[in-house]
Amino acid sequence: MKFGGTSVGSADRMRVAARLAADERRKRPVAVVVSAMSKITDLLLDTMRHAEAGDLSGMEANLDKLRTRHVDVCLALLPESRQAAVMAKIHGLVDEFERIARGMAMLGERPPRSVDEAVAIGERLSALLVSEYLNAEGTPAAAINAREVVVTDAVFGNASPLMEATREKARSHLLPLLGQGSMPIITGFNGATADGRPTTLGRGGSDFSASILAAALDAAELWIWTDVDGIMSADPRLVPDAEVLQEITYAEAAELAYAGAKVLHPRTLAPLAEKKIPVWSKNSFAPEKPGTKIVPSIAAASGTRAVASMKNVALVSLEPASAELNGVQVMARALDAVARANVEVLLLSSSSYRQNFCFLVRQEELEQTVAALEAALALELAHHYLKPIHVDQDVGLLTAVGEGMQGKPGLAGRIFMAISRVQVNVIAIAQGSSELTIAVVVRRDGLEESVRAVHAECGLGMRPPVPVFTFPMARRRE
Ligand code: ADP
Ligand code: ASP
Ligand code: MG
Repeated sequence: MKFGGTSVGSADRMRVAARLAADERRKRPVAVVVSAMSKITDLLLDTMRHAEAGDLSGMEANLDKLRTRHVDVCLALLPESRQAAVMAKIHGLVDEFERIARGMAMLGERPPRSVDEAVAIGERLSALLVSEYLNAEGTPAAAINAREVVVTDAVFGNASPLMEATREKARSHLLPLLGQGSMPIITGFNGATADGRPTTLGRGGSDFSASILAAALDAAELWIWTDVDGIMSADPRLVPDAEVLQEITYAEAAELAYAGAKVLHPRTLAPLAEKKIPVWSKNSFAPEKPGTKIVPSIAAASGTRAVASMKNVALVSLEPASAELNGVQVMARALDAVARANVEVLLLSSSSYRQNFCFLVRQEELEQTVAALEAALALELAHHYLKPIHVDQDVGLLTAVGEGMQGKPGLAGRIFMAISRVQVNVIAIAQGSSELTIAVVVRRDGLEESVRAVHAECGLGMRPPVPVFTFPMARRRE
């Protein structure tokens, strides 16, 4: 079971999470992965930015907030007899964080590996509190730092697991605990290289931690507890009538996550799909609801299942200025440069007539993208064989996802019509090579409206109730 930030966001939420895990444990062994309490990871990252900038008072104000939030939960959650001991551990962890942050203030720098070591303290604090509460309630539990069990490469801030090594460590640490009837409460989000340097798996990475461990332990099921009723046909914050999907395939869920649906970290499903471990996405605020089951396949693929969007993206365009330049060669070299800069291309679109092409990247990767292109194409740019690199940051990405989409003639056309009806310009399009997606780049300020329009056009969402009182409608028509 994995509990997200809001599901462990307060003493009350930790009580509920602990009860959900303890109830299941009466039936079978349970390992738990926890996120940091909601907003704590942002607070830790912000504290380190203050430190790097030499803003000590900003840094200290954040440290106070960090201590207070966890001390308050400790007081509200635990019996008096345990409070002093746990309080000392909380202060110990916050002191550890403070030492790293002060080091950054002194250096005027935030080395990525120190950031990873420090930011994992959010999860270590929540794992401590949840495990202490379970023990106090009579369910044996042990807080585990994922540094001890998740082995990764050395890409700080966005590490990938080394599954064989992880399997070995996770099994040797966790199976004996489970065998003794103790529930491991493991920190989400972090890990360490084989030689012990701390790493993290990228923002929202606790989902990924849970799937890595579920695969390593050959779990029967993975339950991801969050703050919505499951995976929905769209982000309910954007589309009020979004519906919960009862079932969704690994492929659909993975495409949705990559397309920006925050409900799952994009890499969550990879370790599970191979072993066909079923995943449930469930609401810890309404555990009685069925949630969404993620499964290998669904009998009747039914066209578009969901719409996702991403707003912090940028469209980069390249166009030859002279016919002598071979557009395909430019594209190959540009993409090679971008790949070597470790930038993910979210969408690619080209025109064979003008030999131009454009691709979409995350805004946070834009600077390194442009630098890589400028270096790789320096001569062509200097001699004006290529037009200057054009960057458009005023765009957003909309993606429709569904296994049955490829068999639906005219679907792309209907999606464009729906977007044009709400007067939003389509800037670029791509049918995903997996044929599970149709992706559209639109003007940023029309993105949310487009999501609602496409969602409705594809017949998704809860139908509005049939109006009982129709008389005024009839009059208007007269
Ligand atoms: P957690 O802290 O539990 O990991 P997140 O905030 O990371 O939770 O993810 C849950 C949020 O994802 C929801 O509150 C919802 O706003 C958002 N979301 C975006 N797209 C979807 C979708 N298709 N289905 C469900 N939730 C979605
Ligand atoms: N706490 C981490 C984050 O906020 C990981 C997670 O919650 O999934 O990014
Ligand atoms: Mg999340």
